[in-house]
Amino acid sequence: MKTIPVAEPDLSGNEERYVLEALRSSWISSTGPFVGRFEAEFARLSGTRSAIGVANGTLALHLALLTLDLHPGDEVLVPSLTYIATANAVRYCGAEPVFIDVDPKTWCIDPAKLDGAITPRTKGVIPVHLYGHPADMDAINRIAAAHGLWVVEDAAEAHLARYRGRAVGGLGRIGVFSFYGNKLLTSGEGGAVTLDDPALEQRARLLRGQGVDPDRRYFFPVTGYNYRLTNLACAILCAQVERAEEIVARRRLIFTRYREALRDIPGIGFQPTAPWAEPAPWLFCITVEEKAYGRSRDGLMAWLGEHGVDTRPFFVPVHRLPPYREQSMLRGDDLPETDRLGASGLNLPTYNRMIDSDIDRVASLVRGGVR
Ligand SMILES: *Cc1c(COP(=O)(O)O)cnc(C)c1O
Repeated sequence: MKTIPVAEPDLSGNEERYVLEALRSSWISSTGPFVGRFEAEFARLSGTRSAIGVANGTLALHLALLTLDLHPGDEVLVPSLTYIATANAVRYCGAEPVFIDVDPKTWCIDPAKLDGAITPRTKGVIPVHLYGHPADMDAINRIAAAHGLWVVEDAAEAHLARYRGRAVGGLGRIGVFSFYGNKLLTSGEGGAVTLDDPALEQRARLLRGQGVDPDRRYFFPVTGYNYRLTNLACAILCAQVERAEEIVARRRLIFTRYREALRDIPGIGFQPTAPWAEPAPWLFCITVEEKAYGRSRDGLMAWLGEHGVDTRPFFVPVHRLPPYREQSMLRGDDLPETDRLGASGLNLPTYNRMIDSDIDRVASLVRGGVR
């Protein structure tokens, strides 16, 4: 019986050709023609003036926050139902993430819960487009503007998603993407920040490149970082971006087949889609309501695992994790939607080489999983 992995990159286009081209040119560090080409093409995809390649998504978040001058003692509003990098990047600046519950209609940060969490220390909001579904950006931007806060979109899981017809990554002050191996577009490791403001772009590029003065080599006016992305990674990304629409289109078909095959199973729920959302088909999500389904989420995952199907549980809410739980308890966080989803959700295998019979096999295991 073949094992069905939970994720796998689609490298079936020009990836090999471009990597060889980069390798043979001997431009393997962060200088080389693929870097600028990738940045231009990715900016076009996210509808922003510019995109800056960064070594990974976590560092892209950190770079965004450094660019916005986040300082020790500051607070940033983030969802707790996210990958830990969203909160860690805030900590890297010495600032503190303040966790906000998610909206059951989007599974993203709940705009109605922001107002009550804003203090004089609050500097910004990081909505996460969770599992590819865009957060309600207009509502978030409205509240942020009223309080003088910036907004950084964590779009790591949401390549090509649209919010009211507009591409994610260009809806806040800065957008952040990841190109980790399991993301929709990948270079193995990689990331990008997307933005419109030329002054912020200049600052982000300065900080990414060790702080070196662009007009004076080996002179460093500020403490910078080496967060650059390599020409090799950008070669892969150029091939990925060329086929971005195609990669996403194939995943949409997988999503449609899953929805059909998993329809009307008592206790199995799907990710909601807001009427204004065009989500990115990242990893297919289901929720398990134990009473109605007859088996727990973890029980279903074990059952699928026994039958060669790899899955992954939803994120453990960040406010429950050791680096954050003490602060969270002191604040008296109560995040019921986050806790409910964190305990009941899982991702099913989603990758482009998946064939219909793989999807059907996973679905029939879920359907027959009750005993
Ligand atoms: C993947 C991911 C990141 C971090 O990206 P890396 O490239 O793995 O560092 C950040 N935020 C979210 C929501 C992610 O899913």
